Formats: sequence, C-alpha cells, structure tokens
Amino acid sequence: AARHDGKTALVTGGSRGIGRAISRRLAREGALVAVHYGHDLTAAERTVKEIEADGGRAFPVHAELGVPGDADALWAAFDRALAEQDAPTGLDILVNNAGITVPRPIADVTEADYDRAFAVNTKAPFFIVQRGLDRVRDGGRIVNISSVATRVAFPAIVAYTMTKAALDYLTLSLAQELGPRGITVNAVAPGYTETEINPTLAVPEIRRRYSEASTFGRLGDPVDIADIVSFVASDDARWVTGQWIDASGGAHLG
Ligand code: NDP
Repeated sequence: AARHDGKTALVTGGSRGIGRAISRRLAREGALVAVHYGHDLTAAERTVKEIEADGGRAFPVHAELGVPGDADALWAAFDRALAEQDAPTGLDILVNNAGITVPRPIADVTEADYDRAFAVNTKAPFFIVQRGLDRVRDGGRIVNISSVATRVAFPAIVAYTMTKAALDYLTLSLAQELGPRGITVNAVAPGYTETEINPTLAVPEIRRRYSEASTFGRLGDPVDIADIVSFVASDDARWVTGQWIDASGGAHLG
C-alpha cells in the first residue's frame, strides 16, 4: 500500500510553488488532496489536473487568507468540497504552506506590509489550526512551512522572518498540546527554492548567490521540500514532533 493511502490532506497554497509539489507528492502516495488557493483558480485547476493525470485524487478549495474570517471560510469551503467528493468529513494531514514574502529591510517596511505578512503567514495558520482541530483526526499530522530565515540573520527580509519565527513557536506549543491525540506538529524550513515567490531569482547574479548559499551549490526544487513534508506527514515520522526540520540543502551551515 502507498504511504498515504486512505488519508485526506489539505495543503494551503497547494496550487503553486512548494505547495503544488507537496500536493502532487501526497496524492501520488495515495492521499485525497484539497488543493487550496487564494487568487489563481487556473493554477489550482492545473495542479488538480496534474494529480489526476498521475492517477491521484484532488480537488480545489478557495479561500483568501489574511482577511477577517479567513479560517472559517477555508473550512466551510473544504467541508463543502469534501461532501461533493462523497468523501467522509475530516482530514489526516494539514499543511500550512500558503505564505507571502516582504522583501524589504526594516527601513522600508510599511505598516501595511507588516500587517499583511502577519495576517497571511501567522494569523491565518493560527486560526486554521484553531478552527480545524475538531476536523483533524487523532493520529494526524500538522506541518507548518517555516523558513531557513529563522535559523540565521536575514535583515533583508526581517518582517517576513518574524512571521515565520512566530509560526515556529506555534509549532512547538501545538506539538505539546496535541501529543495526547497522537497528532504530530512539525515545521519544515525551506531555503532558497525555485518558485514564483521571489522574482529576483531571474537575475543571474542573485541566482548564483542563492545557489551558492547551499552546500550543494544549487537552488532547492519544490520537489526537494515535498519529499521531506511527505516523510514528516507519514506514519514513519510518528516519533518526531515539535521539531524544526531544515529543508535548505545545507544553506548557511557555517
Ligand atoms: P508561491 O508564491 O510560489 O506560492 C504561494 C502559494 O500560496 C500559492 O498557492 C498562493 O495561491 C498561496 N497564497 C499566497 N497568498 C495567499 C493568500 N493571501 N490567500 C490564499 N492563498 C495564498 O510561494 P512558495 O511556494 O515559494 O512558498 C510556499 C511557502 O514556502 C511559503 O510559506 C513561503 O514563505 C515558504 N518558503 C519559501 C521559500 C522559497 O525560497 N520559495 C523559502 C522559505 C520558505 P494564490 O496565488 O492563488 O493566492
């Protein structure tokens, strides 16, 4: 049997980038995957089609995050979509992946930038978990996508880093609280990964610098992150909880 057979997963921001790779990997290993998106329906539908072409099962779920009532809207959409699939309510794997960056040093961060980043990256996962706890089955998995930026200093993206640092401590507290239910809660922290979140990756000099940050001398592929998330979400990782797991290809090791 495949690793995630019979499981239901929700991947926020599952439509593009790292979330797309996570959705595809979980589905390839048997999970029914809710591919969440906020704005780009076409991307979500494309990812669902790719999953179906691979022989997997998935469906799109829409909810804009970072706005009042976002978590309730997400779960309402999820419940509705599951019912349309004739699937039982609830889920086994929740991946809080959706996120936005703030590519500015402290001097240039506006209040609006700051509030928006915390609303999407920190507040949304907090209330998604709070409102979702009665849906996540005992023995389930919660994986929060953090960033290597919380391990070393990154003044160029300080506000973003703060949103992820807060998520790391949500991870730790939740792991303690949910242990009695057999639910593990971990953070997976990518380094420089090839997605659309960072348009400056197209600039050759920046691309070279980010590639060289990894001890392997290349950018991360979203698939590199998805493979780690799949393990953390599996039964094999049942004895790992409350941990921050580096997924940066050895970025900034020394
Ligand atoms: P992308 O920009 O490629 O994808 C972001 C995903 O999140 C999309 O599916 C997008 O859907 C969704 N999303 C973004 N904002 C919202 C919103 N307000 N409401 C609902 N959905 C939203 O990003 P990545 O794949 O690069 O990033 C994924 C995660 O990994 C993020 O948490 C990021 O911080 C983290 N990370 C990424 C790194 C990298 O180098 N790429 C490094 C370290 C961490 P839609 O467009 O439809 O709204």
